[in-house]
Amino acid sequence: MAINWTEAQIEEIVASVMKSLKSDAPTTKCEYDGAGYNGKKYIGVYTDMKDAIDAAESGYKAVRAMSLAERERVIDIIRDLCRKEASIMAEIGVSETKMGRVDHKTAKHTLVADKTPGTSDIQAQVKTGDYGLTLTEMAPFGVVGSITPSTNPSETVICNSIGMIAAGNGVVFNPHPNAIATSNYAVDLINRASQLAGGPRVLVSSVVKPTLDTADIMYKDPRIKLLVCTGGPGVVKSVLSSGKKAIGAGAGNPPVIVDDTADIRKAGKDIIDGCTFDNNLPCIAEKEVFALNNIASELIEAMKENGAYLINSEQASRLASIVLVEKTNPKTGIKSKIVNRDCVGRDAKVLLEKIGISVCDKIRCIICETDFNHDFVQHELMMPILPIVRVKDIDEAIDLAVKAEHGNRHTAHMHSKNIDNLTRFARAVETTIFVKNAPSYAGIGFGGEGHTTFTIAGPTGEGLTSAKSFTRQRRCVLSESFRII
Ligand code: NAD
Repeated sequence: MAINWTEAQIEEIVASVMKSLKSDAPTTKCEYDGAGYNGKKYIGVYTDMKDAIDAAESGYKAVRAMSLAERERVIDIIRDLCRKEASIMAEIGVSETKMGRVDHKTAKHTLVADKTPGTSDIQAQVKTGDYGLTLTEMAPFGVVGSITPSTNPSETVICNSIGMIAAGNGVVFNPHPNAIATSNYAVDLINRASQLAGGPRVLVSSVVKPTLDTADIMYKDPRIKLLVCTGGPGVVKSVLSSGKKAIGAGAGNPPVIVDDTADIRKAGKDIIDGCTFDNNLPCIAEKEVFALNNIASELIEAMKENGAYLINSEQASRLASIVLVEKTNPKTGIKSKIVNRDCVGRDAKVLLEKIGISVCDKIRCIICETDFNHDFVQHELMMPILPIVRVKDIDEAIDLAVKAEHGNRHTAHMHSKNIDNLTRFARAVETTIFVKNAPSYAGIGFGGEGHTTFTIAGPTGEGLTSAKSFTRQRRCVLSESFRII
């Protein structure tokens, strides 16, 4: 399936989703909370984490008893509901988290519905030889504990659920505290799909009020066999220290290189399209640009033609002092800068207003020329703010881009027609995703080939997770038989 990112198509998707919504579907965003909506309780959402784990364990037993066709039937209905309720989840997401854009979040849900792999992702391997036949099958772990972020809350819950159920697991979620209603709406959706497919009332579960304490209960419960964590460095570190098998999908700071062989006009548009996708919330989105000096001005003009607003260095300093705040570590007394949560995922227009600049709605990105050490380059802002660093040649571009990625090994992008340059950067940066000559979202299957995921596991190496990432290998050996040739 090919999806091209145009405003017209997004509008079409939103219109078709709105048209197909069921009449009894909830519509008022202010009536949601972590426990339910419109007075109706979310299915599978518990006050106590222990009860949530009990429910996930029952869900696991039910999935184990299902045939592959029955699992696939549940997944088909999840996909269907996800398409139908995409704009509802997008609206709750923006309303609850105050981050991102409804049209883009709607498209993200449609992407999850269309391109998250199901049971076909699970493939057994067979080896035959003089000694007979050995079969390696991909088995479920059991009950998975999943920690989900605020940036793609319901997208991650649904994407994880499809993959984990396809693999035969149960799952209990500990969603981000700033996105409980959105995440638990998705938990409810999975359970409604299960019921519609003739499965159990509660297939996956969550808690009304997730906290670090409920996460800790999840880490320590012996029934949880696998932890999957999608979030920033703190939480990834915490699951990797849990003593359990864990999949960690952590932070990125994706650099973009543009060299002088690129189609500069296209590069300018692609970079702005990718950088502004859901107001830069995706961890894969372009965060800083390294442009060869001889094409940098032309690139900036191309960006301006595509909704970018250029600010000067004094304005950039004032903006930096607002979007980043200083924090003192209570234990060490060491001061560091962290992103101002009130600015993450906000519209460019809103951010510009904070430094007294008023612009029209067409402005979707703030760009500025900076040096390499600027806060905008060094910090993962997750805002539609894009610093551009001029470099003298490709050597300098690669050197600085690799440093700006901070060894996350997450995502990097490049616009070039020079195969040697593309290859050199890809080798040097060692990221899980490397996108050439396209907006960043092509890397997760949006206008690019390949499946989608919202859990990109760089630190633990699973890469773009899918059902098979949530399985464990089991070998079955039959000696001296079943080799039939
Ligand atoms: P976050 O790190 O603030 O929170 C993630 C989740 O972890 C939340 O549920 C939070 O409550 C919980 N949490 C935080 N510290 C914890 C701890 N010590 N123990 C247990 N739970 C803890 O993430 P966010 O702001 O929602 O998401 C943004 C970050 O996540 C960015 O850094 C982004 O790059 C990253 N991210 C990565 C991917 C990926 O696939 N690699 C996807 C989305 C987001």
